[in-house]
Amino acid sequence: MVRRPIVVANWKMNKTIPEALQFAGDLRKSLKETGREGVDIVLAPPFTALKAVFDSVAGDTIDLAAQDLFWEERGAYTGEISAAMLSDIGCKYVIIGHSERRQYFGETDEGVNKKINRALYHNLTPIFCIGETLRQREEGATFKMIRGQVEKGLDGLSEGAMSSVVMAYEPVWAIGTGKTATPGQAEEVQGYIRAVLRESYGREVFDSVRILYGGSVTPENIGSLMKEPDIDGALVGGASLQVDSFVKIIKGGII
Ligand code: PEP
Repeated sequence: MVRRPIVVANWKMNKTIPEALQFAGDLRKSLKETGREGVDIVLAPPFTALKAVFDSVAGDTIDLAAQDLFWEERGAYTGEISAAMLSDIGCKYVIIGHSERRQYFGETDEGVNKKINRALYHNLTPIFCIGETLRQREEGATFKMIRGQVEKGLDGLSEGAMSSVVMAYEPVWAIGTGKTATPGQAEEVQGYIRAVLRESYGREVFDSVRILYGGSVTPENIGSLMKEPDIDGALVGGASLQVDSFVKIIKGGII
């Protein structure tokens, strides 16, 4: 099955509204010149810039993702943002379980599972992030970790629900470090993720689920990563902050 590539810009805690709008405008201009057929493009600005960017790219088939949400529907949860609020302002996707949230904010697999469920309830597509630390890799625990994260994060999800999830393999040791996984290393784990999904969800999900690679993706390495059969796109941090490099990655994502 041919899976449509998807490239996601995770801006993390970067860009004010004017900076985000400048980027969105420059991106639209650049994509008009170079063309962008055949790839889904998603921007994940900070919460404060989501609405402005949505209004700016509306009609250009650039989709919006939030970087997180809270699993409760509404209520006394100071500082949190709900799935309904994100859908309200036009988000189509939401990043869930990013390693920085796991590392700095105590996010657990159980919390991730609740967030995925809440996102799906509001028709948001979760971009579900998983990945091993350097220590886990060195101890030979990569596959065990990955299986645990997949099974706990997706616990109780039906096959229909799973068909709306995008997976993102992000080895923690490769995020923001300049140390990309080799295409072979990424493919080995991403093929494994697909195989684990097949055990619970069968052939259709196995064939159709999109699995992104994330971790120091650049215009230089995207081409070789995208040649691997189980890499369907990229979740890009640092290199998504400049239009130039992000556009080059988008072009590299079209195979
Ligand atoms: C990320 O944070 O999702 C990421 C992949 O970051 P970077 O591209 O900077 O490694």
